[in-house]
Amino acid sequence: MSEEQVNRVLNLERRFEDKPVLKKILVSGEVSINKLAKIASIATNKNQEELAGLAKILPCRALETLARDERRQALSESVHVNTNPQQSLLTVNLLAHLDYDLQKDLLERQKKGININQLLKDLLKKHDEELAQEKQKLAEEENRRAEMRNTATGAREKIPATGAHAKKPSRYIPAKIRRQLRKEHGTKCSIRTCQKPATTIHHTQRLALSQNHDPNFLSPLCREHHAIAHSIDRTYWKKRRP
Ligand SMILES: [Zn+2]
Ligand SMILES: [Zn+2]
Repeated sequence: MSEEQVNRVLNLERRFEDKPVLKKILVSGEVSINKLAKIASIATNKNQEELAGLAKILPCRALETLARDERRQALSESVHVNTNPQQSLLTVNLLAHLDYDLQKDLLERQKKGININQLLKDLLKKHDEELAQEKQKLAEEENRRAEMRNTATGAREKIPATGAHAKKPSRYIPAKIRRQLRKEHGTKCSIRTCQKPATTIHHTQRLALSQNHDPNFLSPLCREHHAIAHSIDRTYWKKRRP
């Protein structure tokens, strides 16, 4: 072990002084120093057991994401964030994304005395309502399909010795539903604070149980949040969803 590594271990040992569960897996070498260093900032005497379990199964990058989420969550709960749009860089960045024609159009409307803030709010609201309706329609279709599949399977199972052919839902998510998710979440991970590209559409209810691709229970996730989603209990999950 190099001197630097020794120092890292000593430093972690100190931080885990009141967290014996974490200290134990550090000293025994059961979990790497790199992994434990990622979660040290969020470790408490209370959550040490849970974190130790996660450190054993999650890759380093997922642990890093987990710790970042946890710190952000703590921050948003304790600090009042100033969200005055005039003072925010957000406004400047956003304008740069609008086409020149659109900026001109909005400006002309504003000059005529039209409340363009209200106009945009109304349009977004209408858009969201349409998306929600579309999602509901797709969900109903999906559930109907699953029901039909189950009925067909049930009928077949009544015939002796053919139960083995019971039909399972395909893992393939229909294009219509993928398009809907894309409209709702864009191309990024659906965790509110995450900006990473989505790599997987995760079933928040296990496909084997739900037997369908109801879009209400689908979430596009980045690689790290997907790993976290499969390793963590549902209370954590609920807390983080938008
Ligand atoms: Zn998944
Ligand atoms: Zn993510």
